[in-house]
Amino acid sequence: AAMRKARVKRTKTVCTYCGVGCSFEVWTKDRHILKIEPQEHSPVNGISTCVKGKWGWDYVNSEERLTKPLIRKGDEFVESSWEEAFSLIVSKLTDIKEKYGPDSMGFIASSKCSNEENFLIQKFARAVIGTNNIDNCSRYCQSPATAGLLRTVGIGGDSGTIKDIEKAGLVIIVGANPAEGHPVLATRIKRAHKLHGQKLIVADIRKHELAERSNLLIHPKPSTDLIWLSAVTKYIIDQGWHDKEFLKKHVNGVDEYIKTLDKYTLDYASKMTGLTKDELIEVATMIHESDGTCILWAMGVTQHKGATDTSTAISNLLIITGNYAREGAGAYPLRGHNNVQGACDFGTVPIWFPGYQPVQDEQARKRFEKAWGVTLPKDPGYDNHQMLEGIKEGKLKALYLFGEEMAFVDSNANFVDSELASLDFFVVQDVFFSKTAQFADVVLPAAPSLEKDGTFVNTERRIQRFYQVFEPLGESKPDWLIFKELANHFGANWTYEHPSEVMDEAASLCSIFAGVSYERLEGFNSQIWPVAKDGTDTPLLFLDGFGFPDGKARLFPVEWTPPFEAGKEYDLHLNNGRLLEHFHEGNMTYRSPGLTHKVPHPWLEVSLELAKERGLQDGSLVRLTSPYGQVKVRTIVTDRVKGKELYLPMNSREDDEAVNRLTSSYHDLVTHTPAYKEMSVKMEVLEKT
Ligand code: SF4
Repeated sequence: AAMRKARVKRTKTVCTYCGVGCSFEVWTKDRHILKIEPQEHSPVNGISTCVKGKWGWDYVNSEERLTKPLIRKGDEFVESSWEEAFSLIVSKLTDIKEKYGPDSMGFIASSKCSNEENFLIQKFARAVIGTNNIDNCSRYCQSPATAGLLRTVGIGGDSGTIKDIEKAGLVIIVGANPAEGHPVLATRIKRAHKLHGQKLIVADIRKHELAERSNLLIHPKPSTDLIWLSAVTKYIIDQGWHDKEFLKKHVNGVDEYIKTLDKYTLDYASKMTGLTKDELIEVATMIHESDGTCILWAMGVTQHKGATDTSTAISNLLIITGNYAREGAGAYPLRGHNNVQGACDFGTVPIWFPGYQPVQDEQARKRFEKAWGVTLPKDPGYDNHQMLEGIKEGKLKALYLFGEEMAFVDSNANFVDSELASLDFFVVQDVFFSKTAQFADVVLPAAPSLEKDGTFVNTERRIQRFYQVFEPLGESKPDWLIFKELANHFGANWTYEHPSEVMDEAASLCSIFAGVSYERLEGFNSQIWPVAKDGTDTPLLFLDGFGFPDGKARLFPVEWTPPFEAGKEYDLHLNNGRLLEHFHEGNMTYRSPGLTHKVPHPWLEVSLELAKERGLQDGSLVRLTSPYGQVKVRTIVTDRVKGKELYLPMNSREDDEAVNRLTSSYHDLVTHTPAYKEMSVKMEVLEKT
């Protein structure tokens, strides 16, 4: 028994399924995962975990794992050696660069992968290839939130920690479903609500779990959040409830901003949003009476044409009421992927080097040029959306993508497919032969988090280490090692022996990571950026001023943008979002039997009223059609949605159930995040039972 026990290994890891960033020990014997054990000293979650963190790991041993590089030969893929794959990539990318220049290539990074891996791919794109055409999936979700915060408070991250949210007198959740999208964070809100009298307002078009528990649930018409937020802000000012002292001391642009609110009267807001005047007054009164308000938001806000402006309106409301720079207050955009925060922090963005240093800032560029011994491109690159447009226009010829299921999660998937298919050269690096990989010329087998070392940044800006549990399966390799070897095949001389050396380099180049090191992050230790040289971190932002040179916040006037309308025949509004048991496109969770057993496929939620009108039941089969495509899906009848609202989780396994066969290419006007939530469809009933 002692010998058997000795073979059981316990390794610290960090969950890869959402931005909450739970950490735990994985118990393993050989390649078997025995259990997941959260620890009292797990900084975010203590002894909690959700179903995905607990049961979502078996995919690492899936027989479908890629274990060798693949090269396309006609319509087939054949296995190759790493050498052969690297040579082909070098020769193709060199040809394309010589013929069309470095900006004819694009790089899509992964928010599922580590900070170090994201740092290296942006270094590869910028220093080896010579382009800023690099982006990550925050473009699909949280870029508008970041942009809204950068406009107003100068730093694009959560204001404080999850523990700070627990201290708020009032939590307002707009367009987010934490009980499924961020489950352990949701348990913290439930606890504060139940045990400490925290008040909860939910603004949503769907009655999800926290909506049911809220003190006030408001149901604005889709895409009208900016209007009710602005009306509530105006009402607060009209009542004299704004924080005059805070505004005087810490905020610029107050009078100019207040003037722009004139039109947001209760009458106007009520007409446009469908909310009653009493509801609007109640929201304002609850904010006024609360000791600290936190506003949490996610894709229900950020996936619209006016998403950056709505995120800005949220931050404006927090500024007007003095709800920044103290515990239990502030802005909390909820990051979706485990490392979407880190992917941006470490520079896989077309306009920023790591640490949010603009590529156009000469001093910053010089610092990176000196460190890397190269001349770097100075113009901002293409984002994900512009890369696809670039393919269509013949400007972008090659794409290198890792850990991202673009052909499934980007909106208007039929358009995405046709653009990916027309690339001259396409490299996909992944753990599985993804749907995106079918368009590739070379597919490289990557190793998942349990097979490598690294760090992630969670939604609170908390940097945490994860440790290697298993050897990479077959000939797969950690992404950081692939990038190192690839760069060296291009003649670079990258000598990294371990991801810690990449972190050291990032720390030396970015003030926000100055005091970050693997030693300081040992085990369950963590650091929340910005981290000073001596290792002091910053759980609560803005105590020393806002992120602008004069230390003051800026009120930023915004205008409402009406949503995209598909036309009268598309008579139903289709909302989409997450599902507790699955993550994103489902490549990992649908290969974890515990989770698939629980939820084998998504369903379409239809309201009681619509079910009655169209004769639908649980299990009816319907076809949804938008101007962009069709899907077939089974229904479930529920009071979570009302009237002509439908809800289809984005997490599906089958292509013909994928919600992005229906979505359009419309996008946020500032950041190009797709307007996934502005979608109308028509429905055809195929089978009633
Ligand atoms: Fe993982 Fe998020 Fe669940 Fe925590 S809440 S276990 S980070 S999916």
